[in-house]
Amino acid sequence: MKIFKSISSIQKYLSKQSQIAFVPTMGNLHQGHLSLIQKAKKPKTCIVVSIFVNRLQFNDKKDFASYPKTLKQDLEYLKNECVDAVFIPTEQEMNTNHSEFKLSFFNLEYQLCDAFRPGHFEGVITIVMKLCNIIQPHYLFLGKKDYQQLFILKNLMREFCYPIKIMAVPTKREKNGLAMSSRNGLIQKKYTTKISELYNELMQIKKTCKSLIHIKKVELRAFQNLTKNGWIVDYVSVRSQKTLLSPKNNEKKLVALIAAHLGNVRLIDNIEFCI
Ligand code: AMP
Repeated sequence: MKIFKSISSIQKYLSKQSQIAFVPTMGNLHQGHLSLIQKAKKPKTCIVVSIFVNRLQFNDKKDFASYPKTLKQDLEYLKNECVDAVFIPTEQEMNTNHSEFKLSFFNLEYQLCDAFRPGHFEGVITIVMKLCNIIQPHYLFLGKKDYQQLFILKNLMREFCYPIKIMAVPTKREKNGLAMSSRNGLIQKKYTTKISELYNELMQIKKTCKSLIHIKKVELRAFQNLTKNGWIVDYVSVRSQKTLLSPKNNEKKLVALIAAHLGNVRLIDNIEFCI
């Protein structure tokens, strides 16, 4: 496994590769990240993983400062997965400290997470676009765990004519249903028995939302249940898988999305279902 810190060195290495699969991450790797890598493995394909904690996507400075960093362990995991190349650029190399440009987007502006984390997705798309320009992958592996991010990046790649195929990977969960996330380690011990409640509410929505007329009711019930149990809920929303807007009359493929805080940790999760 080769480790690169500069753009020029990884580009030199990649110029000799015919098929490239790319998995961008912010490190503190867990089984969720590794499932993306496992999906990316194919003969004659060079697997590149980036580790970069992207300052631009944190609207809260404290959240950025406390983001878990476990580089030594991450590299160990990546070596075990037989990853070909790891790209660990500095902020200077990625020019995130003094950026003069930032991409913006419109399709989910002021909605869902963007209403609660203004600037977050601009930061994400800016860095993923830069990374894709550097790596020039044929395949980009992204998790459904970050459903809105996946949706925005798919649209971005299509609109800007990137010759990159996006591969969406299902969410990896703990036994209790909790979606694996680098932030889970920050959840206080006293909440251990509560952490499955978020996924349980998503399952409940999937089970009880049988037609579009049920949506308001199931959203409200989940919101109230979580609030009653001590969660601070940003939103519970059932949307169209295709547009991520409120579903239209004939839409059958839906996704329920929740963002809620347990103590000082904000968790997001979602579940796809059909009616
Ligand atoms: P992050 O390091 O949080 O930026 O995540 C890097 C990539 O891993 C993103 O595409 C995420 O959607 C994906 N990812 C994070 N957690 C999971 C999970 N539990 N299951 C599947 N993919 C995940």
